[in-house]
Amino acid sequence: MNTLTVLAGPTAVGKGTVSAYIREHFPQVWFSVSATTRPARPGEVDGVHYLFRTEEEFDAMIAAGELLEYATVHGRYRYGTPAGPVREALESGHAPLLEIDLQGARQVKEALPEARFVFLAPPSWSELVRRLIGRGTETPEEQARRLETAKAELAAESEFDHTVVNHDVRAAAQDLVGLMGLSVDSPADG
Ligand code: 5GP
Repeated sequence: MNTLTVLAGPTAVGKGTVSAYIREHFPQVWFSVSATTRPARPGEVDGVHYLFRTEEEFDAMIAAGELLEYATVHGRYRYGTPAGPVREALESGHAPLLEIDLQGARQVKEALPEARFVFLAPPSWSELVRRLIGRGTETPEEQARRLETAKAELAAESEFDHTVVNHDVRAAAQDLVGLMGLSVDSPADG
């Protein structure tokens, strides 16, 4: 029986980068496609990267009980995991991966406590600060706010079954895929 794996971690830890690496190198991992009210960025395809939905459409998905979890992320847009495709993936023998925020991970833990919860951690606090500040896109006030958030998010590690430290994207991806019980010797790896 396959298990659902949930990957979460603090802001700026590199979840998106690790996920992108896994998508490219480990085709045996089945990714959940989240619904979101965020507009698509250039290059993002509806139904591939996200299901891009209006606020009304997102409300309708909630009302119909279609979402396994959902949350407002960074105080802005809503994101949620459609439950049906995850259930079908499990039933057909796939190993689904959800890359979601901490609020969502806690909801999945309520609904499916038997799922595998993996925390992606930075190598150190100073490295997380460096990655956050290094983007150079936020004002000092916004940086301070995000650092406060990151501090609280780091404390959530104890709620998880496993920790993967993101020293290096390739090693972190391999650790995660290994935890999922899949072979890391993918032919696409390199
Ligand atoms: P982005 O807008 O940069 O693609 O994603 C922003 C954040 O939304 C990331 O931290 C990601 O983990 C989170 N996220 C993406 N999909 C979901 C989802 O389905 N549920 C929840 N709770 N968070 C999500």
